[in-house]
Amino acid sequence: MELLYLHLGIGSYSDHGLEACRRLSDQIGIKLNVITMKDEYNTTVDDLKDKNEKICSACGTVKRYLMNKFAFENNFDFVATGHNLDDEAAFVMHNVFNRNIDQLSRTGMVTKTIRENKLIGRVKLLYYLTEKENMLYCILNKVNFYNEECKNASGNQQIKNKEILYKLADSRDKKLSIVKTIDKLKKNSDVKEWVPSYCPECGFPTTKGICKFCRTIAG
Ligand SMILES: [Zn+2]
Repeated sequence: MELLYLHLGIGSYSDHGLEACRRLSDQIGIKLNVITMKDEYNTTVDDLKDKNEKICSACGTVKRYLMNKFAFENNFDFVATGHNLDDEAAFVMHNVFNRNIDQLSRTGMVTKTIRENKLIGRVKLLYYLTEKENMLYCILNKVNFYNEECKNASGNQQIKNKEILYKLADSRDKKLSIVKTIDKLKKNSDVKEWVPSYCPECGFPTTKGICKFCRTIAG
């Protein structure tokens, strides 16, 4: 296992995040890899902000792409992310309200690695733990973490989703039920295998044409 930090150039937020990851890497003795968007692509999320109304969605595209690319090129079996129960329950609820069946079918604790398609699976190791439980664990075990909120996040959809979630599902059990309902439905549904095509610019999988990452960084 190794750590990966994506320095996306979001003002001082990205620098502070990197410092926290370096401290964590020293603390737990695990190698930290850093990808700096400015060095690799000569642009930053701050630059993209002027061209993208939905900067959080563009930033999400960049993060997913860079994590997959790094894991593929360095032969990792999986990418582990820190999504927790609150993130998942809010995501599921948002997609139910918006009838995004495709998005719902792609959620879950584990997605498969299909190396021949250049797709590295993702595991969400904190999937059944709430935000609060994670926070308590870190405080009690003196784990180095980083408590600053991204300045782009204020008022974004994810935060709005969580506000709704906290009104409707005020306990751990209710959040768990939301997530487990979808897990169960997914098991009983026949999701079509996705046959990817490959981006003519970067060679990574996409639904069709130039991939969303290449389109995003090109502005
Ligand atoms: Zn591409």
